[in-house]
Amino acid sequence: METTAYNLEGKLGKIPQPIRGDAGGTDPGPRNVLRDIQNPDILTPPETDKGTIPNLKFSFADAHNRLQNGGWARQVTARELPIATTLAGVNMRLNPGGVREMHWHKEAEWAYMLNGRARLSSVDQQGRNFLDDVGVGDLWNFPAGIPHSIQGLEEGCEFLLVFDDGNFSEDSTFLVSDWFAHTPKEILAKNFGVAESDFADIPASERYIFPAPVPGPLATDKVYDQQGPVPQKFSYRLLEQDPIKTNGGTARIVDSTNFPVATTIAAALIEVEPGGLREMHWHPNTDEWQYYIEGSGRMTVFASEGKARTFNYQAGDVGYVPFAMGHYIENIGNTPLRFLEMFKSNRFADVSLNQWMALTPPEMVRATLNLNQKVMKALQPTKNPVVK
Ligand code: MN
Ligand code: MN
Repeated sequence: METTAYNLEGKLGKIPQPIRGDAGGTDPGPRNVLRDIQNPDILTPPETDKGTIPNLKFSFADAHNRLQNGGWARQVTARELPIATTLAGVNMRLNPGGVREMHWHKEAEWAYMLNGRARLSSVDQQGRNFLDDVGVGDLWNFPAGIPHSIQGLEEGCEFLLVFDDGNFSEDSTFLVSDWFAHTPKEILAKNFGVAESDFADIPASERYIFPAPVPGPLATDKVYDQQGPVPQKFSYRLLEQDPIKTNGGTARIVDSTNFPVATTIAAALIEVEPGGLREMHWHPNTDEWQYYIEGSGRMTVFASEGKARTFNYQAGDVGYVPFAMGHYIENIGNTPLRFLEMFKSNRFADVSLNQWMALTPPEMVRATLNLNQKVMKALQPTKNPVVK
């Protein structure tokens, strides 16, 4: 039996075995050792895990990738992760100049730029337009039904899109090329006041993502805008926000209070230092959809009735927490753990276990949990999203 394997850092280490104290036993195989190394808390769960909790993890690495001339796109929706009914996500790459074609959809689109830069364009129902270049850490939000396009700039780009319906499909958006291809040419001619022959060269089917030259500077792409710009900007520079700093990391919260156009999706960008913890908490309003950007973490979700299950997450993974369930996220790696937590809501809201206990009559807390004076004194009345 093999006893060593390469770990995530490419170092040779002992093959993990599902053994915890006196419980478990070796796994002689067949087995997927790389998967086991990525999921130490699935292979060998903490003793406190109990009962049946649905799967709360799906990696974009396991999602079908749609390769196009100009980029690619893959999605994690309720079809991949059935419990994730509130939100769905798309991970997309646009090569330099690559275009995600002019389109719209029934869902609102919230996004976070992971790499590179892109040019966004949109026009609302009153003919007011929006044109902006976004870079790493910038967000955008297109309201439901509002048309838009995205184009990669010199270095191309990669981003995460989040939609406010778990059953969203990136393959069923309304594409302008698809509409043209499925409209009688005499109607196109009448609609635009030109001849049918003027539409001889339109695409025969949808383009979706296609290559194009890198556009010039933003100022050269300005168009006629008699109605002026959209009243609420569709983009937001999240990294320009002063984060909440704690001894274990940082948190940046963005919702309709500071990004007014984002009326259906609220989010937090969390950074946890090695050994740090996104504190024990829950959300009083809705489910949580997570996207892991870097590092290595673990989360235990407490589901009441004595049920709890622990999952591991790395860059490119999606995590999910059903409404009201208690959870923490611990950085178990040697580098910062960064992730986004998103909610189908106009407001970010969480309840801190520590703060709740600190602000409850102490005799009640002590009598309930048999806590000693040391624990009682350590309770914090102020919220600390990340602790160490
Ligand atoms: Mn879109
Ligand atoms: Mn949470």
